[in-house]
Amino acid sequence: MPVNLEQATSLITERARQLVNRSVEQRGHENPPFLPEEFARLQGIKKIVKEDLGETSAVLLRFHDGYVIKVNQNHNLARQNFSCAHEIGHILFSELKLERYIRNIEYRTFDPDGERKARSRAIERLCDAAAAELLLPEFVFRKYLSGFGVSVYAIERLANIFRSSIRAVAWRIAEVSEEPCIALLWQLWPRNKPRGLRLTWCIGPGKRPRSKDNYMPLHTYVRPPSTLHKAYQDSSFVKSSRLFKCDNTVKRLPMESKGFGYGEKRYVVSLAFLDR
Ligand SMILES: [Zn+2]
Repeated sequence: MPVNLEQATSLITERARQLVNRSVEQRGHENPPFLPEEFARLQGIKKIVKEDLGETSAVLLRFHDGYVIKVNQNHNLARQNFSCAHEIGHILFSELKLERYIRNIEYRTFDPDGERKARSRAIERLCDAAAAELLLPEFVFRKYLSGFGVSVYAIERLANIFRSSIRAVAWRIAEVSEEPCIALLWQLWPRNKPRGLRLTWCIGPGKRPRSKDNYMPLHTYVRPPSTLHKAYQDSSFVKSSRLFKCDNTVKRLPMESKGFGYGEKRYVVSLAFLDR
């Protein structure tokens, strides 16, 4: 991750943390969930409106007397919470004038529009980082995680407690777990038969540098039959091991996987452990 982006990430995360602290002070306890409505009040957001937004998750509207966030009522509540928190991230982004960090980033690309796209991706990632800190504050999340133990079992419970999505929780575990682990998400591909499971994303331990090339499974496409397919089909969780590129070596790591969601939207989340 370029130095500028790293600085911007810690600045926006720090600001999100201040907002969490103010909220904790006001309510007098630090028990989850942490909901966007609490932060909205502290951040000059007049209201959060639920509407049918089609394909859009949420929009942020600026008025002379404050902000309004519109969020897609067709999405589930966990997703609505994240979308809202992400829009609050945009407010923090402009308050902190982080644009200057993004402007100086160099992108190696031959696509004439690539630089603009890469910048807007960088901004979206920063707002996601703020959203994660707002909804899954590191100090509280870590306490609950160590209480449950780092396992795919814990993901669903944490998602319920923090009113967050399975994906956001899995990602957050990799970021803040004291025991280093990698979180992975697999989806069926192609949509017709025979259907393998393809890696959608993979996030290595720690928050920085978030270079995804440092930790990757050696094979990102898994053909049936496999333990991952078993996790996809059953409701139970499955233990296996898999080869990973970790920095510049290849290691076999123990892994736990579990299927979530229904029908076409079903997917598998895995956690792989570096020190087990
Ligand atoms: Zn955004």
